[in-house]
Amino acid sequence: MRRRWKCPICQKPVQPREPEFPFCSRRCRVIDLGRWASGGYVVSTPLTDPEAFGAGESRPDDAAEEKRKKRE
Ligand SMILES: [Zn+2]
Repeated sequence: MRRRWKCPICQKPVQPREPEFPFCSRRCRVIDLGRWASGGYVVSTPLTDPEAFGAGESRPDDAAEEKRKKRE
């Protein structure tokens, strides 16, 4: 039984003995790492939800911003 592996980034066929397996190259590995890191943060702390963001830290800034806008 033979399994065909593909680079998850660029879909290029890749051999399990490649040093960067399952990626075809170091570049694709780095791309995947960055994608995973940024995607993980977006999913666990949605920017649209202020409650999950830590109200104590973001609220004072928001209030100051509001005052500035009203004055101008
Ligand atoms: Zn690739």
